[in-house]
Amino acid sequence: MKVLVCGGAGYIGSHMVRCLLAHHHEPVVYDNLSTGHREAVADVPLIVGDIRDSETLRTVFDQHCFDAAIHLCAHSLVGESMNKPYEYYQNNVFGTLCLLEAMHEADVTKLVFSSTAAVFGHPLAPLIDEEHAARPINPYGASKWMVERILADAAPAYGLRSVSLRYFNAAGADPSGEIGESHHPETHLIPNILRSALGKGSALKIFGDDYPTKDGTCVRDYIHVNDLAEAHLRAIRFLDQHDGAHCFNLGSSSGFTVLEIIEAARRVTGMDISFERASRRAGDPPVLVASNVKARVQLGWRPAITNIDDIVRSAWLWHSQARY
Ligand code: UDP
Repeated sequence: MKVLVCGGAGYIGSHMVRCLLAHHHEPVVYDNLSTGHREAVADVPLIVGDIRDSETLRTVFDQHCFDAAIHLCAHSLVGESMNKPYEYYQNNVFGTLCLLEAMHEADVTKLVFSSTAAVFGHPLAPLIDEEHAARPINPYGASKWMVERILADAAPAYGLRSVSLRYFNAAGADPSGEIGESHHPETHLIPNILRSALGKGSALKIFGDDYPTKDGTCVRDYIHVNDLAEAHLRAIRFLDQHDGAHCFNLGSSSGFTVLEIIEAARRVTGMDISFERASRRAGDPPVLVASNVKARVQLGWRPAITNIDDIVRSAWLWHSQARY
């Protein structure tokens, strides 16, 4: 398959590209390099362009005959989205419309869209399945939910086949150590822990220790980035057999507190990782854990790397020798 990977130079996108190559497919990356890295996709064609640039997108679809598109371009920080909602709706919603229109004109009918656990807002169930109501509480989650709604409307109107994958907490890095998570500034927990172990960045802070969880810190469902990538491939195959718009929650069905992740990092690095206790971060729900039953049954997907130490170890391999 020839697959357009929008946002392919980013953290999840670059692992997606490797996964496609490993399965002998032909990825073409489209990325404005605002948060992505050219070095992460050195081995594949890279078109530097913005998702909101309809003209460039049309040219790309004229020049290539794609079997499917994977759309991972997004602004994705909850806190930032609260302060810059216009930018989030511009990039995440308007940008997606530009891509969808270009796909429609080029008669490309299969899309895998990267959505998020943030569509659920403050979830009401300990294990979130696809029946759980989507009630986003920040512009980031709302922008992803709006796109899911657009995809549902595009199915009957234009025959677009789509799968929205709601990622829980993407983590880890490719075992090669050649690509990994690199955001500037970095806001995510595992990179912040490992960077502080290496003496890089500012002192590690725990955002809130008074949540209603077993040790007072937030619980999250950490999924290895290569497992996420594998789910996209399965989603494309699923769309060969199914029309309509579909959604799947991608998690491990188990969660870890912030303190448990720090413990895992201590075991993996052998270092004593110190931290400060800080106040809660705006927009953080106490617990976010996915039920992955639907993905297991309908996509035949299950995470291969489930041990949290293995996930943290793969991230450590990257961070201890990060190339970009
Ligand atoms: N977190 C933290 N310190 C950090 C970064 C994150 O305590 O330096 C907490 C954060 O408040 C949340 C959890 O770790 O409870 C996971 O945050 P992350 O930003 O990695 O992912 P999110 O769940 O926001 O997508």
